[in-house]
Amino acid sequence: MRRNVPPGLHTIRGFMGCCHLLVTSDECVMLDTGLFGEPILIRRLVRKLGFTPQSVKAILLTHGHLDHAGNLAWLRRWTGAKVYAHPAEQAHVDGTYLYQGITKWCGRLEAAGRALFRYRSAPIDEFLSDRQELPFWGGLRVIHLPGHTAGHCGFFSKRHGLLFSGDMFASYFFNVHRPPAILNSAPECFADSVEKIRRLNPRWIVPSHYDYLDGELHRRRFAKLFGIGNWQLH
Ligand SMILES: [Zn+2]
Ligand SMILES: [Zn+2]
Repeated sequence: MRRNVPPGLHTIRGFMGCCHLLVTSDECVMLDTGLFGEPILIRRLVRKLGFTPQSVKAILLTHGHLDHAGNLAWLRRWTGAKVYAHPAEQAHVDGTYLYQGITKWCGRLEAAGRALFRYRSAPIDEFLSDRQELPFWGGLRVIHLPGHTAGHCGFFSKRHGLLFSGDMFASYFFNVHRPPAILNSAPECFADSVEKIRRLNPRWIVPSHYDYLDGELHRRRFAKLFGIGNWQLH
């Protein structure tokens, strides 16, 4: 099922979450890179749409967790495209981030995953900052949304009124939830990031972990989860 999203948005549904290919008439960009098995799906989709690896002009990362950066090294090599992410995410991508307290569990899980999937790191080529305007997909604005990680970013398409919200929440039928505490390395920032999205007031929201591709459905679920009443579009 696919509703309330623009035509140039393609989901690659992977092992743990979704990554997205954002397509305009003559080029595309990848938003996150997935984990296990996604390279086959990404290659197949790019080919099916009539593109070559070189048509992929950029790789955007919401953050550096393994389920988002899992294929970063491969995708960077395959496309020759630059990697765009917040500088605070490089340690996550490299697997050198020093998790504290309860989030040490996240570090242990990722370390196991990296060994299992023979993960390889890659450099972030272009550092992103809040409100930066990127020229891709008709214009994407970087929305720095720290909380889940310190450098976690969303991407907002003004043209489509659509926010890619990364791991601000997961959106499944009967199971809409915030990321579990063990996964949030900057939890003190989370509430401000929710407020930032409330003020941004996007028409549609597409997270990274979801069941159906429906921008309106996820906006509704986001509002309910975070207790945003009367969130009218303006
Ligand atoms: Zn994450
Ligand atoms: Zn995730």
